[in-house]
Amino acid sequence: MFNSKNSMPTAKSSGRKSRNDIILLGVLIFAISIIALLLYLFSETSNSVTVTIDGKLYGTYPLNENITFDINTGTDNKEINRLVIVDGKAYISFATCPDGICAKHRPISRTGESIICLPHKVVVKTNSNTESIIPDIVA
Ligand SMILES: [Zn+2]
Repeated sequence: MFNSKNSMPTAKSSGRKSRNDIILLGVLIFAISIIALLLYLFSETSNSVTVTIDGKLYGTYPLNENITFDINTGTDNKEINRLVIVDGKAYISFATCPDGICAKHRPISRTGESIICLPHKVVVKTNSNTESIIPDIVA
Protein backbone atom coordinates (compact mmCIF):
# COMPACT_ATOMS: atom_id res chain seq x y z
CA MET A 1 0.00 0.00 0.00
CA PHE A 2 2.68 2.43 1.07
CA ASN A 3 4.76 1.67 -1.98
CA SER A 4 1.89 2.01 -4.42
CA LYS A 5 1.01 5.50 -3.02
CA ASN A 6 4.56 6.65 -3.40
CA SER A 7 4.96 5.23 -6.84
CA MET A 8 2.83 7.94 -8.49
CA PRO A 9 5.18 10.96 -8.22
CA THR A 10 8.17 8.71 -8.80
CA ALA A 11 6.66 7.48 -12.04
CA LYS A 12 5.98 11.07 -13.17
CA SER A 13 9.50 12.30 -12.47
CA SER A 14 11.09 9.25 -14.05
CA GLY A 15 8.89 9.85 -17.09
CA ARG A 16 10.28 13.36 -17.47
CA LYS A 17 13.78 12.09 -16.91
CA SER A 18 13.50 9.41 -19.57
CA ARG A 19 12.14 11.98 -22.04
CA ASN A 20 15.24 14.13 -21.42
CA ASP A 21 17.37 11.04 -21.84
CA ILE A 22 15.74 10.36 -25.20
CA ILE A 23 16.42 13.95 -26.32
CA LEU A 24 20.04 13.66 -25.17
CA LEU A 25 20.38 10.33 -26.91
CA GLY A 26 18.92 11.82 -30.09
CA VAL A 27 21.40 14.71 -29.97
CA LEU A 28 24.25 12.25 -29.42
CA ILE A 29 23.17 10.04 -32.31
CA PHE A 30 22.85 13.12 -34.52
CA ALA A 31 26.35 14.33 -33.55
CA ILE A 32 27.87 10.88 -34.13
CA SER A 33 26.14 10.65 -37.53
CA ILE A 34 27.58 14.03 -38.56
CA ILE A 35 31.09 12.99 -37.48
CA ALA A 36 30.76 9.65 -39.29
CA LEU A 37 29.52 11.43 -42.42
CA LEU A 38 32.44 13.89 -42.33
CA LEU A 39 34.95 11.07 -41.86
CA TYR A 40 33.33 9.25 -44.77
CA LEU A 41 33.45 12.32 -47.01
CA PHE A 42 37.07 13.10 -46.19
CA SER A 43 38.34 9.56 -46.61
CA GLU A 44 39.17 9.05 -50.25
CA THR A 45 38.22 6.18 -52.50
CA SER A 46 41.17 3.92 -53.07
CA ASN A 47 42.21 2.87 -56.57
CA SER A 48 44.02 -0.36 -55.72
CA VAL A 49 44.34 -3.15 -53.17
CA THR A 50 47.43 -5.02 -52.05
CA VAL A 51 47.28 -8.66 -50.99
CA THR A 52 49.89 -10.02 -48.59
CA ILE A 53 50.25 -13.53 -47.21
CA ASP A 54 52.11 -13.86 -43.92
CA GLY A 55 53.52 -10.37 -44.50
CA LYS A 56 54.85 -11.20 -47.97
CA LEU A 57 53.54 -9.34 -51.00
CA TYR A 58 51.25 -11.48 -53.14
CA GLY A 59 50.02 -8.87 -55.58
CA THR A 60 48.52 -5.44 -56.15
CA TYR A 61 45.31 -5.12 -58.09
CA PRO A 62 43.53 -2.06 -59.47
CA LEU A 63 40.00 -1.53 -58.19
CA ASN A 64 38.74 -0.27 -61.55
CA GLU A 65 39.01 -3.72 -63.16
CA ASN A 66 36.48 -6.37 -62.24
CA ILE A 67 38.28 -9.61 -61.44
CA THR A 68 37.78 -12.70 -59.31
CA PHE A 69 40.61 -14.99 -58.31
CA ASP A 70 41.62 -17.45 -55.62
CA ILE A 71 44.42 -16.68 -53.19
CA ASN A 72 45.88 -20.08 -52.36
CA THR A 73 47.67 -20.64 -49.07
CA GLY A 74 48.44 -23.46 -46.68
CA THR A 75 49.63 -27.01 -47.29
CA ASP A 76 49.59 -27.85 -51.02
CA ASN A 77 47.84 -24.49 -51.59
CA LYS A 78 44.57 -26.10 -50.53
CA GLU A 79 43.39 -23.13 -48.48
CA ILE A 80 41.42 -20.62 -50.51
CA ASN A 81 40.36 -17.00 -50.15
CA ARG A 82 38.41 -15.95 -53.21
CA LEU A 83 38.93 -12.27 -53.81
CA VAL A 84 36.35 -10.40 -55.87
CA ILE A 85 36.91 -6.91 -57.21
CA VAL A 86 33.78 -5.37 -58.67
CA ASP A 87 32.55 -1.79 -59.06
CA GLY A 88 35.63 -0.38 -57.31
CA LYS A 89 35.15 -2.54 -54.22
CA ALA A 90 37.06 -5.60 -53.04
CA TYR A 91 35.72 -8.41 -50.89
CA ILE A 92 36.26 -12.08 -50.15
CA SER A 93 33.33 -14.05 -51.51
CA PHE A 94 34.47 -17.48 -50.35
CA ALA A 95 37.08 -18.81 -47.95
CA THR A 96 38.02 -22.21 -46.55
CA CYS A 97 39.18 -20.77 -43.21
CA PRO A 98 37.43 -22.13 -40.10
CA ASP A 99 36.10 -18.80 -38.79
CA GLY A 100 34.93 -17.34 -42.11
CA ILE A 101 35.28 -13.81 -40.73
CA CYS A 102 37.05 -12.56 -43.88
CA ALA A 103 34.17 -13.73 -46.08
CA LYS A 104 31.66 -11.90 -43.86
CA HIS A 105 33.60 -8.63 -44.03
CA ARG A 106 31.87 -5.85 -45.94
CA PRO A 107 33.49 -4.77 -49.24
CA ILE A 108 36.40 -2.35 -48.90
CA SER A 109 36.89 0.60 -51.23
CA ARG A 110 38.25 3.50 -49.19
CA THR A 111 41.85 4.12 -48.17
CA GLY A 112 42.92 2.61 -44.89
CA GLU A 113 40.43 -0.27 -45.03
CA SER A 114 41.48 -3.92 -44.89
CA ILE A 115 40.14 -7.45 -44.77
CA ILE A 116 42.19 -9.82 -42.69
CA CYS A 117 42.00 -13.60 -42.69
CA LEU A 118 43.84 -14.63 -39.53
CA PRO A 119 43.81 -18.42 -40.11
CA HIS A 120 45.32 -17.99 -43.60
CA LYS A 121 47.45 -14.93 -42.70
CA VAL A 122 45.94 -13.18 -45.72
CA VAL A 123 45.59 -9.40 -45.66
CA VAL A 124 43.75 -7.44 -48.34
CA LYS A 125 44.42 -3.74 -47.87
CA THR A 126 43.37 -0.69 -49.84
CA ASN A 127 46.27 1.53 -50.91
CA SER A 128 46.41 5.25 -50.55
CA ASN A 129 46.33 6.81 -54.01
CA THR A 130 49.71 8.44 -53.55
CA GLU A 131 51.36 5.00 -53.49
CA SER A 132 52.36 3.80 -56.92
CA ILE A 133 50.73 0.64 -58.18
CA ILE A 134 53.21 -2.22 -58.10
CA PRO A 135 52.81 -4.51 -61.13
CA ASP A 136 51.14 -7.85 -60.41
CA ILE A 137 53.60 -10.47 -59.21
CA VAL A 138 51.14 -13.29 -59.73
CA ALA A 139 49.26 -13.16 -63.02
ZN1 LIG B 1 39.26 -16.12 -43.35
